[in-house]
Amino acid sequence: MSQQQTAHPIRVLKFGGTSVQHAAAIRRLTEIVAAKRKTCRPVVVVSALAGVTDTLLDAARIAARGSLETVHSRLKKLENRHATVLRELFNQHSCLASELFLLDTARILETQLAELELLLSAVATLGTLPDVIQDAVVAFGERLSSVLVTTALQLRGITAETVDARRVIVTDGRHTCAEPDPTAIGKQSRRIIAPLLEAETVVVTQGFIGSTRNGATTTLGRGGSDFTATLLGAALDAEAVEIWTDVNGVLTADPKIIPGAATIPFLTFTEADVLAQFGAKVLHQRTVQPVRAKGIPVFVFNSEQPDGPGTRVDGGQKTASGVVKSIAIIPEAHQTLLGLVGTGIAHSATIKAKVLDTLHLFEAELVREPLSPHCLAVIVDAVDAKRAVVALHEAFFESPAEPAGRAEASHTLKILGVQPLVLSPSFI
Ligand code: ADP
Ligand code: ASP
Ligand code: MG
Repeated sequence: MSQQQTAHPIRVLKFGGTSVQHAAAIRRLTEIVAAKRKTCRPVVVVSALAGVTDTLLDAARIAARGSLETVHSRLKKLENRHATVLRELFNQHSCLASELFLLDTARILETQLAELELLLSAVATLGTLPDVIQDAVVAFGERLSSVLVTTALQLRGITAETVDARRVIVTDGRHTCAEPDPTAIGKQSRRIIAPLLEAETVVVTQGFIGSTRNGATTTLGRGGSDFTATLLGAALDAEAVEIWTDVNGVLTADPKIIPGAATIPFLTFTEADVLAQFGAKVLHQRTVQPVRAKGIPVFVFNSEQPDGPGTRVDGGQKTASGVVKSIAIIPEAHQTLLGLVGTGIAHSATIKAKVLDTLHLFEAELVREPLSPHCLAVIVDAVDAKRAVVALHEAFFESPAEPAGRAEASHTLKILGVQPLVLSPSFI
């Protein structure tokens, strides 16, 4: 880059499990990164291939029960899946150089899988699965996927390098839900990642995993790759963090419950935080925390439709107050907590009345003590949860606005106080 040109800003691009689940998805990822590279210096954070973390957890638990035969069949499946993706990535590359490259990459994957097999044998011998070992086992999901993604980028002609996240994401020793150390992560990011970006190399690293100062592998909790992405975004003073997933941004409800849920174009940090903490799986609960103080925006996009709509999350001076943006649910065994999220809605009498009116056919209880000023929560029986979400979605997002007051007339529901949820300090 000539001296007159200023360096492109850094962007952290996180790709979830479905966005790397097979060769076609990984190829799409490389096209997204290639396009982004024209205007930014990407740091690519990857999850394990969809389903792999569950398989690894399963294998570790089976090993602890001593069923090594079943463990070996799980390992074989994992090996075949990653080997198939690798072969398919090389399909269109048949020169000698690419053959050698394929062999090299296959050897890296094999070495990792052999290490995993040893670890699982040790678990079987011990007959127990301590959290520290569980973390080491599940980390293989992201370790394997990052090798495939870096290889795919290199095949696409992009200079890319894998950085082991365990050298950068420094955490405490709370295995399975470790607490990151932002100061140490900042230092390591500047020492290890920044020079590669300076040299125009695309950095690929694993989401979800980290390590203690003593080098023990840790994880940030399920779905934690989003959290890795924003930790790195803050550490590197990125201009933005992009979460690439399997839906068109953050939607008005989980599309698995409401297939017609619509993209929310804009959320404030607080709205996104409340929604994530209320169980909207599209964002890990702690996604917003690292970036909100620095005002680094987070975008959510669909890797299957890169040109489709998405969501921008930022400080949001311009957001409307008193508007319901999305509905989330926290299922429990017998009851389900439904949360409507939007700036300042917890105290809106109109919205409360509309909720109660909409749910008048169900045994619904409005949570009297707001969990946040930006969330209105209702408890319904678990068996009614889906129908209640459908009704609320229809009332708030699919029908023309009702004249205020109509809803207030008809509800007969109880408004009860319930135990507040345990929420993190950022849930404000
Ligand atoms: P990834 O593997 O990319 O991290 P996740 O499965 O963790 O993806 O999150 C995406 C999923 O989150 C979607 O497939 C969707 O079912 C679920 N989801 C729940 N609530 C919402 C919401 N409000 N908006 C979008 N997706 C949601
Ligand atoms: N692979 C991890 C999980 O399935 C982390 C993530 O995907 O964000 O929980
Ligand atoms: Mg996720």
